[in-house]
Amino acid sequence: MPLEQSEAFILRTFNIGEQDKIVVFFSKEKGIMKGTAKGARKFGNRFGSSLEPLSWVRVFYYEKEKKDLVTVSNCDIIESFFELQEDLKVNFTLCYFAELIEEFSPIQAKEDILFRLLASMLQALKSRGDIDFLTAYFEAWILKINGFLPDLKSCIKCHKDITDFGWLSPKKDGIYCDQCASYKKEKSLPAMANFLQWAKKNPPIKEKKPPISQEEIKGIRKTLEDIIVFHLEREPKSLAYLK
Ligand SMILES: [Zn+2]
Repeated sequence: MPLEQSEAFILRTFNIGEQDKIVVFFSKEKGIMKGTAKGARKFGNRFGSSLEPLSWVRVFYYEKEKKDLVTVSNCDIIESFFELQEDLKVNFTLCYFAELIEEFSPIQAKEDILFRLLASMLQALKSRGDIDFLTAYFEAWILKINGFLPDLKSCIKCHKDITDFGWLSPKKDGIYCDQCASYKKEKSLPAMANFLQWAKKNPPIKEKKPPISQEEIKGIRKTLEDIIVFHLEREPKSLAYLK
């Protein structure tokens, strides 16, 4: 059983037995992994604060054959984001990011882009970037990485460019213009296409002021969240705290 290691983000932990924790982490090499951290609840244990959610760490572990759970032997902090958690809204947002990653990512699949996305999101939040704008950015990218982000620029029926607003299709695979839509429940704002264009080309901003209005961000998030809920077939638990 060789000792393996990987850069990772801690997504969540839960208690097991008397003194142990199960750690769900998102590793750079193998995506989502789960492991036992023995003695992690003992006073003065070797893990210290390295298992706090969303810590960026180097995790050392043993993989057992035919077992889903690895054994976490040690964990060193690369960068912590503890101070972000003091703000309740940021804290819930981080839970939401972690939940989406866990829900959308298959166990033990390498996901480089997602790993870099999460790292840049945390750093942008640390630099006090606009939280709602950054959440919309994260939602757009996690959908894009998973192939669930439809073209929201033109009507899927008549292919006309949508310059004012469109209606999200029932299957969330595109938008209809006002003339073609028969299902008019979920409106997609004109700012959406520009936002997606921008998000594909630019890193998450670190300036406090986003390039679009709060009202537009709200509308964009509503559409992206409708698509997320459709594909997960349920509303993410942590999203309820952000409403
Ligand atoms: Zn049309």
